[in-house]
Amino acid sequence: MNHFELQDGQLFCEGVPLAKIAEAVGSPVYVYSSATLERHYTVLRDALLAAGLKDPLIAFAVKANSNVAVLKTLANLGAGADVVSEGEIRRALAAGVAPERIVFSGVGKTEAEIAFALETGVAEINVESEPELRLIDQVGQRLGKRATVAIRVNPDVEAGGHAKISTGKAENKFGVSFAEAERLYANASNMAGLKPVGVACHIGSQITDLGPMEAAFRKMRGLVERLHAEGLHIERLDLGGGLGVPYFNQPEPPGPEEYARMVGRVTEGLGVQLAFEPGRVIAANAGVLVARVQHIHVRPEGRRFVVLDAAMNDLVRPAMYDAYHDIRPLNPRPGEPVVYDVVGPVCETGDTFTRDRALSPMEAGDLIAFMSAGAYGAAMASEYNSRPLVPEVLVRGDQWAVVRPRPTYAEMLERERPAPWL
Ligand code: PLP
Repeated sequence: MNHFELQDGQLFCEGVPLAKIAEAVGSPVYVYSSATLERHYTVLRDALLAAGLKDPLIAFAVKANSNVAVLKTLANLGAGADVVSEGEIRRALAAGVAPERIVFSGVGKTEAEIAFALETGVAEINVESEPELRLIDQVGQRLGKRATVAIRVNPDVEAGGHAKISTGKAENKFGVSFAEAERLYANASNMAGLKPVGVACHIGSQITDLGPMEAAFRKMRGLVERLHAEGLHIERLDLGGGLGVPYFNQPEPPGPEEYARMVGRVTEGLGVQLAFEPGRVIAANAGVLVARVQHIHVRPEGRRFVVLDAAMNDLVRPAMYDAYHDIRPLNPRPGEPVVYDVVGPVCETGDTFTRDRALSPMEAGDLIAFMSAGAYGAAMASEYNSRPLVPEVLVRGDQWAVVRPRPTYAEMLERERPAPWL
């Protein structure tokens, strides 16, 4: 459920007409609903508690939506943060996330990032390989600290979904095998710069079938039990994120309740704290990208292009993952649907949001919304083609605020310097 609804023929976000925001801020613009963000977080939290989990750590995956106002909205409800860079740690801290609720993942953390994480006191660094384990140990020893680490396991399961967002197969770059995890965990227990506290996995994103997750989680349970049996101290099992969302025409994914019940079943009696790293399931349907139709360009053979002022640099998912986003007019026109290709102005054929989609009739100047764009939307946006970074707006009831303004061209140019010889 989300808070983007038609009211009197106009698309609203909570109590604000989206067109009002687009007129004031210009387009393209991302708009987020506080109520939807809060609802998705609380539904997941309540489902995990109802499934019998004690004190689960829900660390929102900052990569999905890294806007500080969004992070703060979630942090105010008690959310932690799953981060993959120093920049994301800084964002989480700026949003008021307590360091002991921050989990640091990623296959290529630099020495400087590890040092920053240790100085910050993050809850857990998820170790993705043996060389990284050694590096974290060295940094810990140099700083006179013991880094709390979890070993990220690659459970070698096929999660389904798009190959580019599947992370849990042995051929993917993430994590270590179960055998390596056992060995590394035991080694880490004897390393002066490390304090192993748990094991972690994350098998992919936009997962619409609980089967592969359950298979992976059962294997993770086995690992925790083996580590316990070896007399090793283990207090946390991090099950990652990955739960899919309905992108309109796709298979309906399992809901948080079903997911939580499965987790409760698989981990019953294990006696460790569970951590989760959800991104998409919280943020995707809490945001839209609003764009304006520049032209309707009709080719002689009949193909109709809707040329927008939004492009692949603003929302790259269709170009990168062939992702589907529902497209809704802000003020729907009456009439039979028309088949369009919806494209952006960037000089790449890949700058195509959809082809042959039947949509309500459109005219130049109309505003449309790409639905379910709150995750991996603005966070992946760039200035490609020297297009100003897309702004972001947060709505709460009938209030709204620009939470990242569109940079001016002067600001964009100011960041660059001529080389001395030019
Ligand atoms: N945790 C890790 C380590 C990830 O790589 C990702 C994204 O791929 C996530 C969490 C969030 O995944 P999702 O947005 O599908 O919940």
